[in-house]
Amino acid sequence: MKLRYLAVGIVTAGSVSATALALSGTWTRDPVPPGLAEAALWTPEAMPMPASTEAPVLAPTLARSDVAPMVSPPVLPSAVVVAPSLPRVEPSIRIWSREIAAGETLDEVLAEAGLAAPVRAEVALALAAEFDLRRLRPGHALSVTATPEGSPRRVVLEIDDGVRIEAVFGAKVATRVLAPDPETVHLAGEARIESSVFVALDASGIPARFAVDLAQMLGGAVDFRRDLTGGETLRLMWREARIGDDIVGQPDLTFAALDLGDTLFEIVWPEDGSGRATIYRDGVVLRVFAQPVEGARLSSVFGRRTHPVYGDVRMHTGVDFAAARGTPVYATAPGRVSFVGSRGGYGRVVEIAHGSETTTLYAHLSAIPDGLSQGDRVAAGDLIGHVGATGTATGPNLHYEVRVNGRPTDPLSDDRLAEAADHAADDAAALDRLSDARARLEERLARALTPDSTERL
Ligand SMILES: [Zn+2]
Repeated sequence: MKLRYLAVGIVTAGSVSATALALSGTWTRDPVPPGLAEAALWTPEAMPMPASTEAPVLAPTLARSDVAPMVSPPVLPSAVVVAPSLPRVEPSIRIWSREIAAGETLDEVLAEAGLAAPVRAEVALALAAEFDLRRLRPGHALSVTATPEGSPRRVVLEIDDGVRIEAVFGAKVATRVLAPDPETVHLAGEARIESSVFVALDASGIPARFAVDLAQMLGGAVDFRRDLTGGETLRLMWREARIGDDIVGQPDLTFAALDLGDTLFEIVWPEDGSGRATIYRDGVVLRVFAQPVEGARLSSVFGRRTHPVYGDVRMHTGVDFAAARGTPVYATAPGRVSFVGSRGGYGRVVEIAHGSETTTLYAHLSAIPDGLSQGDRVAAGDLIGHVGATGTATGPNLHYEVRVNGRPTDPLSDDRLAEAADHAADDAAALDRLSDARARLEERLARALTPDSTERL
């Protein structure tokens, strides 16, 4: 298997962006809302712990090296204890920090940092201005900068992906979120198909989940079992968001070229991430297709399966995409909204009619955009809802169904919907996008041959 997997062309440099929220200086006199007091006492769920059973550091420690330098305000004069008969006491600022362990509450950790109960409530309130404390998890880290008397100057809660919630206590209390900007890395790779697209991608070090995107996009045009007999080549470009060495979120495909030998299929995804992609066959626009959910994992295919809730074997009338609650759901083809509402086990549903025969159905939605109603026209890629778990669902997922004359068909292989979604085939802009994408792919693959490129294998 010949393959190349390259990390090339960093487009945006990592930097720190911050949003700030200044709270009024008077809020500390308000009573702590009961909901917040509860949140401060909320215990994070125990997480599977690493093999190491090392006890957390209990003693105050030096500042973590990655904690940003302290900002204003300076030490207040009241913190300086000066008695003429005693040696002068230098105002000293203590920095205490450690990770939150399983089963601990924020309140317990703040108490250990030497803060008194009313101060702890103040700190919790300040942090809660920018962070839902019920989302506190073991592994999040707390850093408390305080005077020896236990008066906080700065409290930093480091949550996931390098994001920090910083509360600064001065004349006013200011809370802000410090989030590192991920850098976008563009990658390109090539794989030769021997048995299946999934295997070829996996063996080439290319995210194998792209096989789902490709099956969705090319279903109807290419029979992935019959047409791929081995020897076809697949060349892909995609982008990843990274903070340091960590990949944030899921990688997104930007270009795919599947060469079957006698036919070349190419797909260009838009840079704006709208999910609407153009599919070309031998350099001519074949169709425009929008995925119902971007970057989602195909968790269940069409056909007979053991039902996840009822446990018996039932026909699964659509495909399921597992995605976080709230993930946008898009119309896969232009049409007219034919139903908005609840339908038993489907939960909250939107149905779209594409012509007289074909209907798409989007189920288990958590929310539907205000104003979307029966009779509305939608374009491929229009927002029509958000992923949820309404109806009979084991977790947030989109159940996506394609019906032809009322009968559910396999969305990944039926091409009648694609026909309904056909767009003008001689769109000049679409052809420009194709030649741009081809040029970028060639450039990125060519960089593999230069010594300064990074090869990951
Ligand atoms: Zn389903």
